[in-house]
Order: sequence, then C-alpha cells, then structure tokens
Amino acid sequence: MNDQVSATVAPNMMFQNFIGGRNRPASDGMTLDVFSPVDGTLFARIASGTMQDIDDAVKAARTAFDGAWGRLTATERGRLLMKLATVVEAHADELAALESRDNGKPLRQSRADAIALARYFEFYGSATDKLHGDVIPYLNTHFIGVERVPHGVTGHIVPWNYPMQIFGRSVGAALAAGNATVVKPAEDASLTILRVTALAHEVGFPDGALNVVTGLGRTAGAALAGHPGIDFLSFTGSPETGTAVQVAAAQNHVGVTLELGGKSAQVVFDDADLERALPTLVNAIIQNGGQTCSAGSRLLIQRGIFQDVVDAVSERFRTLRAGHPEHEPDLGPMINQAQQRRVLGYLERGRNEGLTVVGEGVVALDAPPGGYYVAPTFLAPVPHESILTQEEVFGPVLVATPFDDEAEAIRLANGTQYGLAAGVWSRDGMRSTRVARAMRAGQVFVNCYGAGGGIELPFGGFGRSGHGREKGFEGLIEFTTTRTLVIAHG
Ligand code: NAD
Repeated sequence: MNDQVSATVAPNMMFQNFIGGRNRPASDGMTLDVFSPVDGTLFARIASGTMQDIDDAVKAARTAFDGAWGRLTATERGRLLMKLATVVEAHADELAALESRDNGKPLRQSRADAIALARYFEFYGSATDKLHGDVIPYLNTHFIGVERVPHGVTGHIVPWNYPMQIFGRSVGAALAAGNATVVKPAEDASLTILRVTALAHEVGFPDGALNVVTGLGRTAGAALAGHPGIDFLSFTGSPETGTAVQVAAAQNHVGVTLELGGKSAQVVFDDADLERALPTLVNAIIQNGGQTCSAGSRLLIQRGIFQDVVDAVSERFRTLRAGHPEHEPDLGPMINQAQQRRVLGYLERGRNEGLTVVGEGVVALDAPPGGYYVAPTFLAPVPHESILTQEEVFGPVLVATPFDDEAEAIRLANGTQYGLAAGVWSRDGMRSTRVARAMRAGQVFVNCYGAGGGIELPFGGFGRSGHGREKGFEGLIEFTTTRTLVIAHG
C-alpha cells in the first residue's frame, strides 16, 4: 500500500466503501493505490475513507440497530451468519486468490484463513440463541433477571496480517450478539473484507448491519475510534496504535478490547519429545512469514540440549524458501516495503550486537523482483536483554536462549513486556503443567503450539499484548453488556 492519496492512477480493480447497504466512493472521491507485495505492482484501488464516511457509516449502523437488524430474533441473526458461513466456504478459492495477491500469503494460508472465517461465522451463528442471561435470587417480593444485550454500534479496526480471521472473530461475534458494525480494515489488506461484506449483503443482512470504510489509520481509523456514536471498540494491531485507540475510547467512555503484539516463548525442557517439537518450533515462527501476533518468536532451551536443538532447528531453517505465494513456498513476502525494511533493520541491529546467525533460508529464485521478501533467519545464542529477544520483529526471525532450570525458564518466558502466548515442551506432565500455569500469557500450549489458532478458544493478552478476549464464547460475551431487571410483584 502506498500512503499517498491519489485521484489519478487508472484503476485495475476499484473497491469502494460499503455503507448502509451500498457501495460508495469516499465522500471526497479520493482513493489509495494498492500494490501487491508479491511483485510490488499496482493492481487495485480502495476508497480513502474520510471522517464524513465514518460518520455516515455510524449513522447507517445506528439506523439498522434501531430498525431492521435490531428487530431480528437471535435465531434469525444466527441463521444469517450460518448462511454467510456456507457462502464464504463456497467462495474460499476466490477469497484465497484475492488475499494472496493483496497480502502476499501463500495460497494455502489464505485458503486456511477463508475456511477459518467461515468457521467463525458458523461458531458465532450457532451461538446466538444460547446466549442466556441470569436470574438472581433476591427478595421474595422481587424477580431479578439479568439480560445479555448488545452494546449497540461497534467499531472494528483490523490489521493486515490475518484480515479474514480477525474480521471473522471480531465482527462475527459482534453481529451474533446483535450489534450493528462499522469496520475499518488495514489499508494494506482491505479487499477480502470488502468481498465478504458484499457476500453478507447477498445472503440478506439488512442494510447498515455491516458497514466497511477503508482508508488510512490516521484518518478513517482515528475517526472511527473517536466517533461519539460508537458504543464499543475492538482493535487489533500494534501497541502504539492501541494506545491511541484506547485514549479515544476513554474520551467517549466506551469499552475497548485491545489485541496487540507478542514476543511469545516456547520453553523446551531436556526431556522434550524433540521429534514432535521440531517442526512445530519452526512452523510457529514461519507461518505467515512471522507476521503473526502469537508467533513463537523465542526459543528457550534447557542448557543440556541447547546445542542439539539449535543444530536441528538451524538445519530446518536452511531448507526454508521465501517465494511466490502461488508456488507453495514456506513463506511469502512481507506485507510491504516498510515491513521488509523493519525486519532487515532488526537483523542489522542484531548483527551490531554481535549476534550469530546459525541458520538462514533463502529468497527463492521464483520470488518476483519488486516483491518484499526476507530470508528466514535463526540466531543463537541470543541474550535475554537483546533487542531481538525483547521487541516484536513481526517477521521470520527466531532467537534461542539457554536456561538452566524451571525457575529460570519461567522468569525468561515472562520476561518481556508482552504476554500473548507460550509453549511448554516436556514429557514430565507435572512439570509442564506447573510451568504452563506460571506463564503470564493468554494462551499456553503444552507439547503443541497453536499460534493463536482455535476458533473456540479464548484469545488475548497480558501486559503490552492487550486486554479483553476474542474468539470462543468469551469473545461473544465481550460484545454484550447486561441489563438487570428488578420487578416487584408483592
Ligand atoms: P497498526 O496498529 O499499524 O494498524 C492496525 C489498524 O489500525 C489498521 O487498520 C490501521 O489502519 C489502524 N490505525 C493506524 N493508526 C490508527 C489510528 N491513529 N487510529 C485508529 N486506527 C489506526 O498495526 P499493523 O501494522 O496493521 O499490525 C501489526 C501489529 O498488530 C503487530 O504489532 C501485531 O502483533 C499486532 N497484531 C495483534 C494481533 C492480536 O490478536 N493480538 C493480531 C494481529 C496483529
């Protein structure tokens, strides 16, 4: 994506905002150029959404909430979401091709994202009529009911790394709970969200239930975060932007879930089943080119097996290829040139710290020139204080640090500002459970690693990784609030 707003480049594909059931250009007609990270070519344009567009979208959502959408029963909402799930699944190949071009993901990852999106709609669609409230025993003369009700109009700010999945978990849950929604996709990856929104319209979602305004974060995103007509915000992205969104939410006194970054550790004890662990240790950082908030980006390895594990992981790294998304690479390009430079910049800083690269993949020959490719890189040993251990690189960069005992493993694993996910590898069930339960992380995996996967599993962070939970039933609850009814009858 180019940050330049332009009204001049001839479009290859033109995508508009979707407000109140209609495609609409930005209120001032301006657009943003969309470049494919695969080869750096311009292939589409999106609307550069304005404050006016956000205002129109929020009003359309309010009208839907007070009208056609708000009047639907829970069952009717659920059926619409389930219908959308079926249609998304039927369009999985089309969505995957669009995503790979827009975002650079390997096709199989894009297809997995499309299937996960369908599954989110199915999961939340099937939950709408199971979202029960409570009855509270109180005075014998009063009946107390606690209803679970939607917030109203919810705003959703989505990043570029898993647009379909994050749209599914956030917007799927919000719609299931009965909210009307306004979505601001990332400027680098808006296209599949717009396509799925069109499909939602086709299956019969009332006008205004789901609105999408594309554009820059600092204009459209900030306008959505600060709009006084928004009742609740869901933000996934960087900690820095999360702070701005939270400040905006505070000014309007509305709640917000923040799903931010991570620097997740995988702790490998000397009794781990290494044959089982090795492919997962590598995949947890390579998946999506390391552009995964819950990527397993740090290995903590018990000292006695440190060198053996480092050697085995290095060997695997040397086989990895970054290449064209349609040619089954291990990873595609980075999302844009800025991200490519950021990752290379971290590697440069690592070299300046005197760190050693022990395993490096390649940028494959089929990677088109002009694309934003980075060779996967493994460094070891890396001190706990290193910038590469402490900061989220958001690229295919893995670091390994040795530890001596359980207490040190826990201290190092919890020793960053983040707390999104963690992995523990050991054949000793008591130890792995003990260590897992000491992790300051929203998801902990024992002898496996899900990299945030699992539609059904609550997901979210501690510390700088954010707060609030998405996914699973807990994610649905976040998009509701309660109304307590006190009825005197005697
Ligand atoms: P980002 O914060 O730059 O952008 C995220 C979204 O916020 C985009 O839609 C962007 O347009 C918008 N935005 C930017 N500035 C804004 C502002 N001032 N006000 C409102 N909105 C604004 O993040 P990114 O670069 O797209 O994504 C990468 C980051 O997201 C990484 O740190 C990653 O770890 C994190 N992430 C977290 C999760 C999670 O679930 N925890 C999932 C995916 C990504």
